[in-house]
Amino acid sequence: MSTTSIISVSLPKYSSSTYLVNKPSTLRPSVFCRVSSNSSSSSSTSSPSSSSSKYTPQLISSRPVFAAPAPYITPTLREEVQIVEEEQMASKDNYEEAIAGLKKLLSENNGLEAVAAAKIEQITAELQTTANRKADGFCPVERIKTGFVQFKKDKYETDPKLYGELSKGQSPKFMVFACSDSRVCPSHILGFQPGEAFVVRNIANMVPAYCQNRYSGVGAAIEYAVLHLKVEHIVVIGHSCCGGIKGLMSLSDDGSTSTDFIEDWVKIGLPAKSKVKATGGDAPIADLCEMCEKEAVNVSLGNLLTYPFVRNACINKILTLKGGHYDFVKGSFELWDLEFGLSPTSTV
Ligand SMILES: [Zn+2]
Repeated sequence: MSTTSIISVSLPKYSSSTYLVNKPSTLRPSVFCRVSSNSSSSSSTSSPSSSSSKYTPQLISSRPVFAAPAPYITPTLREEVQIVEEEQMASKDNYEEAIAGLKKLLSENNGLEAVAAAKIEQITAELQTTANRKADGFCPVERIKTGFVQFKKDKYETDPKLYGELSKGQSPKFMVFACSDSRVCPSHILGFQPGEAFVVRNIANMVPAYCQNRYSGVGAAIEYAVLHLKVEHIVVIGHSCCGGIKGLMSLSDDGSTSTDFIEDWVKIGLPAKSKVKATGGDAPIADLCEMCEKEAVNVSLGNLLTYPFVRNACINKILTLKGGHYDFVKGSFELWDLEFGLSPTSTV
């Protein structure tokens, strides 16, 4: 697979007018819990970032979560979450009944006010935690809290120089496109430290061709990375067993779709599918998918060149484009440059 084949892929044609949707977002952020910037302090409410600490949307309590008996929970406006909340109403009713009972007890025994108030708070916290915990014992808030505490203890507090620098700004050398797949986090598999890589993750790690009317989130990220952060390398990383690529390879030939977004999104890789079908012969579908995982990376590299600021930076030799493929079955990683085609320049 040569450079020519990468750059000369026919890019998908889009009907821009169909996608001119411009309605305001109806989602509001909700804060489940707030973590103190100093885990040893029970009074601080500021976050590690001074700017973020000024904004506290829908926060019920300003106390840090580690000083509180349990995480604080606010309802969100998202419909799907409301459905889950309805399913949890039974357990919610239970603790509301318990609290009502305690309040009744409090009103009948004025002398016990302080003790009873503390008891109410404790039981409320315990019951909220129970309501938030699934049958398998997994509590998402606990998981997030534990994860942050671990990160802060092991990383943040042991490297004040790095995090002090990062508090002033970022200057990553890499921009990375990776799949949203939970197994392929680039910071994990390549050991990128905070500040090293500006990352975009999406289904099948795709870069759409330049178009101001579609996929503007991707375009904005590329523009910011190249023109403002001045990254030196853009790496598009595919991976083994990619569900998005399987979806691409399984698209029906008549163009019909059964999903709202997924199939339309992975169609960005159609030139890769066409090439694999033309050259892959009657190879098993798993092999064709692996070929497509790599060819789709090349399509994305070609698409990157449709962004004028990317093309200019490449011509001026201040930016390189690289393709990669992480195989988590074999435990290997291939890396190749755009100009050298698919022959791996480096294999680990
Ligand atoms: Zn994937």
